[in-house]
Parts: sequence; C-alpha cells; structure tokens
Amino acid sequence: MAQNAPRIAGRHFLQIPGPTPVPDRILRAIAMPTIDHRGPDFGKLGQRVLDGMKSIFKTKSHVVIYPASGTGAWEAALANTLSPGDKVLMVETGHFATLWKTMAAKLGIEPTFIASDWRTGADAAAIEAALRDDKAHAFKAVCVVHNETATGCTSRIDEVRQAIDAARHPALLMVDTISSLASIDYRHDEWGVDVTVAGSQKGLMLPPGLSFNAVSDKALAVSKASKLPKSFWSWDDMIASNTTGYFPFTPATNLLYGLDEAIQMLHEEGLDNVFARHDRHAEATRRAVRAWGLDILCRDPKYYSSVLTAVVMPEGHDADALRAVILDAFDMSLGTGLSKVAKKVFRIGHLGDTNDLTIVGALAGVEMGLGLAGVPHQAGGVTAAMAYLAETKKGTAAKAA
Ligand SMILES: *Cc1c(COP(=O)(O)O)cnc(C)c1O
Repeated sequence: MAQNAPRIAGRHFLQIPGPTPVPDRILRAIAMPTIDHRGPDFGKLGQRVLDGMKSIFKTKSHVVIYPASGTGAWEAALANTLSPGDKVLMVETGHFATLWKTMAAKLGIEPTFIASDWRTGADAAAIEAALRDDKAHAFKAVCVVHNETATGCTSRIDEVRQAIDAARHPALLMVDTISSLASIDYRHDEWGVDVTVAGSQKGLMLPPGLSFNAVSDKALAVSKASKLPKSFWSWDDMIASNTTGYFPFTPATNLLYGLDEAIQMLHEEGLDNVFARHDRHAEATRRAVRAWGLDILCRDPKYYSSVLTAVVMPEGHDADALRAVILDAFDMSLGTGLSKVAKKVFRIGHLGDTNDLTIVGALAGVEMGLGLAGVPHQAGGVTAAMAYLAETKKGTAAKAA
C-alpha cells in the first residue's frame, strides 16, 4: 500500500483465522449512505439484525450488539454478571483463553485456570472435578473458548454443559465463540449457555468492529445483582432500547447493513451447509499438512478445528520467516504463532467466505512457500487436498449432470 510500491495484481489471499475476506455483497451493503439512527427506518434494520442474530446463535433469549471488537464483548460478559472477588473457572486452551483470564483478573475477579499444553480442547472431566470440589459453590461462572484460534482446537461445549450438570453446580456457562460462530455448529439454548460472546470479523464475514453477547434469562436475572462497575457495557439500557430496534447510543449503522446482508447470506446457503463446507475445507487442509510430513498442533482429532489449522514447523525453522516468504512471493497472509507457540507454528485460516479453489490456492501458496523457504517437507499436499475435495464433490457433480 506504500506510495511507490509496485501494484500487485489479483486478490490478496487473507488466510488468517480472522479477519476473513469480506464478500462483495457485504462490502456493497456497507457502502450504503448512513441513515438517522433515531429515524423511522433504523428501527426496522435494528430489529431485523437482532432477530437474525438469534437465529445464528440458536437462541430465543436476548442478543446484544456492541460497536466494539470481540474483546469488548468479553468484558461485557464478565462485567454484567459478576461482582468483585467472585471466583470463576476458566480453561487454558491457548492464547485467547489466557487473555480472557487476564482480563478477568484485571476486573477484580478471581480466575482459577485449568492448565493445558495448548494442543487440545477443554477437558470436561477436569471441569466436572473442579466443580464437584467446590461444595460451597464459590465459582460463579465457567468460561470456555469454543474455538481456540491460537491452536486450532475446538472444545465440546455440549460436554462442558454435561459436566456442569453432572456436578449439580449453579455456575453460569460463558462461551467465547468469536472465531466459531457461523463456521462451526453452535447452539446457545440447546447447550444451556448463559452468555455467548461473538465478533463480526471471522465467521460472520464482516469487517472488525461489531461484537455480541447472547444472554440467557438466567444470566439476565443474575446481572441484576452483579456489582462490577459498568456503564457502556450494561445490558439493561441496551435491552430496553433494543425492544424497538433502537440503541442507547449511536450504533455502527453501516456495519449493521453488512450484518443484515451476512445473516441473509448464511441462511441462503443454510447453516448446516456452511458448517459442512468448513468441515470439508479443514479436512482438505489437514490432508495437505500430513502429506507434507508436518505436524498439526491439535493432537487429538476429537478437537480438530474446522476454522483453522495450526501447523508445527520442523525443529530449527522459523514459522514467521516462512510467512514472510509466502507474503512476499504470493501475496498471501497466514496467521502467526501467538505467545507460547510464537515462531513454532503458523496458522492456515479456512473460514468465512471460502470455496474449494480458495483452499486449493491457499495450500498451493503454502506448498510453494515451504520449497522457497527451504523448509524440509514432502511434495503432494495440494494433490492430497484436491483428491479429497474432488472425491467429496462427486455426488454434487452427478446431480448437476
Ligand atoms: C479474535 C478472537 C478474540 C479477540 O477478538 P478481538 O475482536 O480481536 O477483540 C478473542 N477470542 C477468540 C477466540 C478470537 O478468535
């Protein structure tokens, strides 16, 4: 983008696990003129996106939309439900879980962190054991990251719910779905989640700038007694205004146009088809990684993420050096390794508005980049991915013929 940089033809490959490429339809929707957020037309848009998001979260209760990144919605979840000194049980799935824990401590909450090696999902049995030990019910909430974007491990929220129920513990269940919502199956009501946190720039295919809380009736009731200071994040004023589709302050009008379009696109494709598409692209990616002879950071297939794959570099090779070669040679951005796994892994995002050829193109960029960067590997990753994608398309081709 620098003034004198030579023009690079074609589309940039944004293969990080968020922000994801924004489809043209959404970009056009966002380009509409900004309207009066207190005028007669806005309420209809507001109501449409609030109802639409309920269908994405699969909830009949409340959805709150903030003009903020996902981090804001994390804070909202904690600040609305908890009081200073409250204990919460959190699970160290990776970098994002660690950031959420650090935030909780800064807000004056006392997190207990179940440790992990960043190569697996949340251990429901460990959660159940911690809750059974908590006879006095000191834990007010269990907080889990659904898809740990730093590692490519997806936790089983249904199993976490069962663990809480088996321990007969009244703690709220709060789940970060910032990188999973609208990419991996998620059911706020069915799984008895009390607060779901989400963001706009990953599966929802929007630019960054919106975030969400889905709030159960139980969480809303608990929030009445919560004593952490809050004003901007307060659910009360939001939910009161939202009943007519309006907001207590200026909402991000143009991003809401984009959200309206995104929700429509997701339903046009069908959520189940969206999830199946992500599953296929993830499996194609893993087949490529295995063919290259490289390791997948997530070590248990039960927790494989359909959103991203973190690839472990061979000993002595720097993932960021490889990423730099690939960006320079092929104009493709891959995700960097975060904190504990910095330079040791790179992450291939395969979420959002992607199709088979996007994935094949991305994997081709990685395979060529491994060669250019002198990273020891075997050829054949792209071929393995193509074989899988073609094989799993056979039924579709027969239908079209
Ligand atoms: C991206 C992400 C976040 C951070 O969201 P921001 O929009 O950057 O504030 C938190 N948790 C998870 C799981 C994420 O993927």
